[in-house]
Amino acid sequence: MKKALITGVTGQDGSYLAELLLQKGYKVYGLRRRTSTPNYENVEAFKHEIEWISGDLTDLSSLIEAIQVSKADEVYNLGAQSFVEASWPQPLLTGQITALGVTHILEAVRIARPQAKFYQASSSEMFGKVVETPQKESTPFYPRSPYGVSKVYGHWITVNYRESFDLFASSGILFNHESPRRGIEFVSRKVTDGVARIKLGLQKELRMGNLDAKRDWGFAGDFVKAMWLMLQQDTADDYVIATGELHTVRELLETAFSHVDLNYEDHVVIDPKFIRPAEVDLLLGDCSKAQEKLGWRQEVSFQEMIRIMVEADLQRVEWAMKSRLIPVV
Ligand code: GDP
Repeated sequence: MKKALITGVTGQDGSYLAELLLQKGYKVYGLRRRTSTPNYENVEAFKHEIEWISGDLTDLSSLIEAIQVSKADEVYNLGAQSFVEASWPQPLLTGQITALGVTHILEAVRIARPQAKFYQASSSEMFGKVVETPQKESTPFYPRSPYGVSKVYGHWITVNYRESFDLFASSGILFNHESPRRGIEFVSRKVTDGVARIKLGLQKELRMGNLDAKRDWGFAGDFVKAMWLMLQQDTADDYVIATGELHTVRELLETAFSHVDLNYEDHVVIDPKFIRPAEVDLLLGDCSKAQEKLGWRQEVSFQEMIRIMVEADLQRVEWAMKSRLIPVV
């Protein structure tokens, strides 16, 4: 039986990846960061199938221990401070986890289990103020936030460990990917949750930032398949994973509001609080390398994904209202 260790397993991607690996018959070990208020929402349905190991990306000895205990064949590093906006008020924390955390886990692999295959969750945010469009593996990076800068470090240290120590270390440069399990602060979930609340009469307006930002939004459930495929190859490499389709935040709003027969213009208010100190205007990926070498394909379209997310938020908000978890105004 193959064994995998996942950091960030309770997050959106970690939960979809754990589900995929469990379906494939893996023994899945999840690194769990001790907190006084643990959140297992994304993994609730299968949390008893995961072997939990306590550890932290800022604590090398706990990572070495996790790798020794799990005897992992595959290590997926999905743990991070992953919200771009939060990386300005917390730049050092972001660097310690999202950047140096990668060296910690790579060191643990190098010391305790150098034969393991390693996946690093790199990000399209590394392209930032893009120098060419669409962006591919060879496109130079120009990060625009402490988060983006930290991800560039994580990417290059992964490449460096591959070249220095001959580790099987691959890096997936994933463009934005969303789902009903996405954190509520990201624009997709903020919009679909807002649409549900407005439709159910809980609020009237939705306060937003830059509606002209353009992104290449895919479905997280599709993207974790690419992570797994990268570690099934004979050699380690870096791959862009994207849909190749561009949409503005405004189009995202139109799609989500029109699904419940509402007009976003009646509800959206621009709030300067959500305008970022430095913006990434456009991200559009070219994933032809992943298509050719991994045989990876996107399955869920942008429209279908937004529909799934709005429906999931309608159900969740309705349930919370019935259970009186949300006061009805
Ligand atoms: P990111 O690409 O990793 O930063 O993912 P986000 O989902 O946080 O943001 C995507 C884009 O939506 C960025 O260009 C944001 O500036 C833009 N955006 C506009 N309004 C909002 C908002 O209210 N919240 C968030 N999170 N992003 C917003």
